[in-house]
Amino acid sequence: MTVALIQPPSSKKPTIVPSKPANRSGHWWFGGWDRLVNSLLRIAGEPKIEVPPGHFAIDFHVHTVYSHCSISRPEDILLGASARGLAAIAVMDHHHVEGALETVRCANELKHRGLLPESFLVIPGVELNSTVGHIGALFVTGDLPEKLTPAETVNAIHEAGGLAIAVHPYHSTGIRDAVFDAPFDAVEIECGSVFDLKLSTLNRALARNPHLAHVAKIGGSDAHYSGAIGSCYTIIHTEYISIESVRNSLITGKCSAKTTDFMSRLQRILGLVPKLR
Ligand SMILES: [Zn+2]
Ligand SMILES: [Zn+2]
Repeated sequence: MTVALIQPPSSKKPTIVPSKPANRSGHWWFGGWDRLVNSLLRIAGEPKIEVPPGHFAIDFHVHTVYSHCSISRPEDILLGASARGLAAIAVMDHHHVEGALETVRCANELKHRGLLPESFLVIPGVELNSTVGHIGALFVTGDLPEKLTPAETVNAIHEAGGLAIAVHPYHSTGIRDAVFDAPFDAVEIECGSVFDLKLSTLNRALARNPHLAHVAKIGGSDAHYSGAIGSCYTIIHTEYISIESVRNSLITGKCSAKTTDFMSRLQRILGLVPKLR
């Protein structure tokens, strides 16, 4: 016997399950803060990505709502990154790969709907806390242990099949001179989260350090706000873009780190703050 499941009429509004992850910052005011920062970023304009023919631009360091300190939604990140001329992004949320995997899923959906170029690439990654500071892992799809030394962290990343990135080495949360203590695959020398001129000079100087001669030099925005995506980026020298070709470009060092005028405009805007006090 077939029983018809007829729901009684209800005055209650149906519960809508949000398709987007909730604000994980835990702060009710973060939505307003996000809008405020994105408005400030708009004053500095948009990062201008310059891509020579036959090359590709990648932002290797982007955060999503899956980080406690960002509410950027994967869909907005992907559409914004593509509109700015990036061919790929790497998602490196704090502690967990969940945000990167969700961004991969979101990219596939947007491609299916014809809203994102088929060739647009999302590289999964995670930003880990070591005993000294933050270390990035790219090309990983599972969570990795934290609170290890830099050498142990790099080893864990390699064992998981990933590449280890010394992100924003000279920064309050960077590993500073420990960048020389472990076999990193790449070092972020153009960092969108470093505004202090002394620190950005130290990061850039790593490009000429003979101890890191064999290590790829990359740029990444470390964008926690969608307006900052592409503020720093990396140009990859490869015939075509794929997970393997990007990985090979890093391993062989066929890439170059870039910053944008957006960064210097933002530095000038931030520099106004003490003068106004
Ligand atoms: Zn970091
Ligand atoms: Zn970061």
